[in-house]
Amino acid sequence: MSKGLLVVFSGPSGAGKGTVLGRLLAERQDVRLSVSATTRAPRPGEQDGREYFFLTREEFLARIEQGKMLEYAEYCGNFYGTPADPIERWTAEGDDVILEIEVQGGAQVKKKRPDCVSIFIVPPSLEEQEKRLRGRGTEDEETIRKRVAAARGEISHAPSYDYIVVNDTVEHAVDQINQILAAEKLRFSRCGEIIEGVLNNHAETVC
Ligand code: 5GP
Repeated sequence: MSKGLLVVFSGPSGAGKGTVLGRLLAERQDVRLSVSATTRAPRPGEQDGREYFFLTREEFLARIEQGKMLEYAEYCGNFYGTPADPIERWTAEGDDVILEIEVQGGAQVKKKRPDCVSIFIVPPSLEEQEKRLRGRGTEDEETIRKRVAAARGEISHAPSYDYIVVNDTVEHAVDQINQILAAEKLRFSRCGEIIEGVLNNHAETVC
């Protein structure tokens, strides 16, 4: 069995990352979402261990000290980070693992795991992004302002990602992500052993 992909998935707040990933995960049993740790307060309906592991600042800093985070970053006044343990386990089991993280964390993962696949998702326009943020109704005005202001800066990091997906419709965005994952699995670096099989007359579909 070939190893699963490690996928960095970033985009500005309001790009629709959550909706797109929700749809993708509902369709695909072999794709898993990493649950991050954060020091931000839970939003209504969010559960500890499901959307995030909600930690105090002290707890979060202790995990960094202990080397338990693959990456971490401060975003709009709160810490966010990826627990390292599950990633190895899940990819070894053949599942693709998605890290829904912001751009500073994305850069750290790229450095540590150059084999990762990075996807940047954008809304069709900044106007649409603000509309989506307000429509979500989960943030106060001050937070919306901060997130809208952060978007231009975040989008300026898009060129360092492998792929860009425009979230015009959820179906289209999910379709494009599925195509990216499928193509990435056919990279020579991931399944060069196929050639070995062909030459030795026991070709197997390993990818
Ligand atoms: P939110 O507060 O809206 O859930 O997330 C705010 C930002 O933090 C989003 O851009 C999200 O992608 C990012 N984020 C969530 N988890 C992580 C993480 O583990 N590491 C990093 N670097 N960013 C994260």
